[in-house]
Amino acid sequence: MLKRTAEDENGAGAAEKVTPMMAQYLEIKAANPDCLLFYRMGDFYELFFEDAEIASRALGIVLTKRGKHRGEDIRMCGVPVERANDYLQRLIGLGHRVAVCEQIEDPAEAKKRGSKSVVRRDVVRLVTPGTVTEEALLDPSRASLLVAVARTRAGENLWSYGLAAVDITTGAFSLSETQQAGLGAELARLDAKEIVVPDSIFDDPELKALWREIRASVTPIPREGFDGASAERRLLDFYGVSTLDGFGRFSRAQIAAAAAAIVYVERTQKAARPALSPPGESSAENVLRIDAATRANLELTRTLSGQREGSLLAAIDRTLTPGGGRLIAERLAGPLTDLALIHARQDSITFFVGDANLREETRRRLKAAPDGARALSRIALDRGGPRDLAAIRDMVDAARDLADILSDRIEIPAEIKAAANDLRALDPDMAGRLAAALRDELPLMKRDGGFVREGFEPALDELRDLRDESRRVIAALQARLAEETGVRQLRIKHNNFLGYFIEVPQAAGEQFARPPLNATFIHRQTMQGAMRFSTTELGELEQKIASAADRALSLELSIFGDLANMVLREGDAIKRAAQALCAIDVAAALAHLADDLGWTRPLVDDSRAFAIAGGRHPVVEAALRKDGEPFVANDSDLSSPSGADGGRILLVTGPNMAGKSTYLRQNALIAVLAQMGAYVPARDARLGVVDRLFSRVGAADDLARGRSTFMVEMIETAAILNQATGRSLVILDEIGRGTATFDGLSIAWATIEHLHEINRCRALFATHFHELTQLAKKLPRIANATMRVTEFEGDVVFLHEVTSGAADRSYGIQVAKLAGLPASVVERARTLLSELEATERARPVKDLIDDLPLFAAQVRQVAPATPEKKDELREALTDVHPDEMTPREALEALYKLKGLAAK
Ligand code: ATP
Repeated sequence: MLKRTAEDENGAGAAEKVTPMMAQYLEIKAANPDCLLFYRMGDFYELFFEDAEIASRALGIVLTKRGKHRGEDIRMCGVPVERANDYLQRLIGLGHRVAVCEQIEDPAEAKKRGSKSVVRRDVVRLVTPGTVTEEALLDPSRASLLVAVARTRAGENLWSYGLAAVDITTGAFSLSETQQAGLGAELARLDAKEIVVPDSIFDDPELKALWREIRASVTPIPREGFDGASAERRLLDFYGVSTLDGFGRFSRAQIAAAAAAIVYVERTQKAARPALSPPGESSAENVLRIDAATRANLELTRTLSGQREGSLLAAIDRTLTPGGGRLIAERLAGPLTDLALIHARQDSITFFVGDANLREETRRRLKAAPDGARALSRIALDRGGPRDLAAIRDMVDAARDLADILSDRIEIPAEIKAAANDLRALDPDMAGRLAAALRDELPLMKRDGGFVREGFEPALDELRDLRDESRRVIAALQARLAEETGVRQLRIKHNNFLGYFIEVPQAAGEQFARPPLNATFIHRQTMQGAMRFSTTELGELEQKIASAADRALSLELSIFGDLANMVLREGDAIKRAAQALCAIDVAAALAHLADDLGWTRPLVDDSRAFAIAGGRHPVVEAALRKDGEPFVANDSDLSSPSGADGGRILLVTGPNMAGKSTYLRQNALIAVLAQMGAYVPARDARLGVVDRLFSRVGAADDLARGRSTFMVEMIETAAILNQATGRSLVILDEIGRGTATFDGLSIAWATIEHLHEINRCRALFATHFHELTQLAKKLPRIANATMRVTEFEGDVVFLHEVTSGAADRSYGIQVAKLAGLPASVVERARTLLSELEATERARPVKDLIDDLPLFAAQVRQVAPATPEKKDELREALTDVHPDEMTPREALEALYKLKGLAAK
């Protein structure tokens, strides 16, 4: 039975004056104004006032009222401690932060200070989205990053941003640095659960939009305490070292960000100290820059609707361990630009592709490896349970097993070799000791006891015997008392309120309560139809049982403490081994995928090549496979014709539904996969490393942000034209379709010229403006490609095949017909189309290509396309002299003008 303590009676229940309990509550709440306060009372966490309203709404729990405070009702609601995790998860998911306030003394102690004294309480931990550690609150396949941002001035109007990413669930800690233009992309790569930023950065008007649009919860923090020397001091103190040189060379912005992260972690974890690894550098310079819009468009780790299912990640993830799942997601989110690292990862995959037996053996071992990194971190934070120790035991076993089979190989790539060494470095005795200590079936919480194996600690076995023996003695006592009193229904029972007691039916009870039996039986409680008693003998037995059980539990807890300390002493080795397992898991999983789906190792170099033979879209292909449909593989070549300067732009035309978007995206995805060091879905692939990837695919109104489709499209296009370099890869799908035809065509046209002349990047450009295909005649590095279609009995049939050349027509009306537009509308559209086409034939827009100077030649002089119709009208008008005309001539002139206008 759950107990809410009676303390509230002397607290919230009293009227008007501030009771000691309420005073304590208000003081603690004032110190944590930005958190919901979980205030421990007995078996419940209670919330009061505003917090109670928020929580009751968010959690759907009853809001009650008790007494008054300063004339106001005290609103309250409570959650049972046993189920607190569920409620915490929901509140954190909604973006709340929770301060957990515990009783830090035994209520009996408080009583000693006087009957009205309040139990001492304090906040033991702040639970925020980026600092939760409980298994139930975490997604096993996703890193749980807290990112701190700091900045230092790098020149006039130029800031350098340092980013510190901490995962307290695994201890991972990495630092990176970027300029303002790359900040959004870097934050998008990290995909943090929570971001902390100093007020000054949070309030910077130029960054307001960034904070508003980011998925993570953003917490502004005061700036003091992690600037300059004090920042370094904090790091030195945290790691207990005298210099940071051993960890690497970090910039001032990075050190400031690292200090901010540590200050925040310490603030949320209070006394507990997470086992953070020393910070490592993951330079934003070595990572393919992909902005948030591109990530969303390409659905790298989640789909546009936010699901993992349907994303590229879900299509390629064949890892077997939770840590492997997190690592593959991290690698996919941050593909590399460093060739040596890319090649090293490829070598690991090749190693496992080449030996299917070894791969299967490896994967069998991986299946048995639990999430050691997260278990270790819970143990370090003193939130671990027996199952966390068992996770370490099983991880060490799997790791050593794996090290053995890998070290048999003579040819072993560097990454796998280093991983195998880390696995072998684990202390086998530690696993042996854990195996000897822990039972097979384990409780979740250490406070439940019963996790230490018989025979591990003789003193514990003795106490357990005593406890169990006493229980047998109770059973014997019950039998004896029943015999002696002749009451067959006599039972000895136990509850939290009375402890052990004797229960007999009412009639027998009344006799027990009278002489002579009342000398032995002490009346405790009268129930409906039953009475409860105790005896001196039962009281003594109870003492013995309780103390044996207590002593057994405290001995178990101290054994737990010893085992935890042993594990923590090996903490660094365990962490390294856990990382090694992840790296092996990812390599074996990608090899498995490559083998299964016939992917190839791409040639990645520092050229400007981009030549894919038989490329496929992994997600669309997987979806089609489910329906038994084949995917049509396609080639693409965006290689710079000269080999070094200026990539090729492929203009892709073709009807809707023909597969343009699929084709565009598949090339971007192949680049991402290649640079994360994976094999790619193609027969053959060569690509020169891409520094930035941009994709503007599809259109979505973003009404929440108050932007129309067209505005979003233009903002994103602007970002691309301003940022793409000669090494970048740009995917643009139907730019300019969100506005009137001539506007759209002009924008698309100018965009292509800019990409060709200024950005000089490799690009794929899908368009419905067939006129643009004429640009290939004028601009040397533009090539046309089209999606092949054919007609069958008046319907369009998509072949999904890319060929060179331009589409002959749009087939929009056929597609509309396929979609089920009413026949009358389709017919009417056909008629209108032929009339419109006849009008355009008078002066096709393609003629303009010859008339207009090139973008680069005369950036400012690109004239807007002026339809000729207007000029004819103007000329005709200048010939009209109203003063010299008869009324009849004037009427004729008017008809002529009207005729011209209708042309
Ligand atoms: P829209 O212009 O309307 O966006 P689209 O030309 O971009 O159309 P996609 O969305 O790329 O067309 O493709 C439409 C559908 O065609 C896909 O969902 C897929 O089922 C199929 N498809 C696309 N490419 C291929 C392919 N290479 N092989 C087989 N089927 C394909």
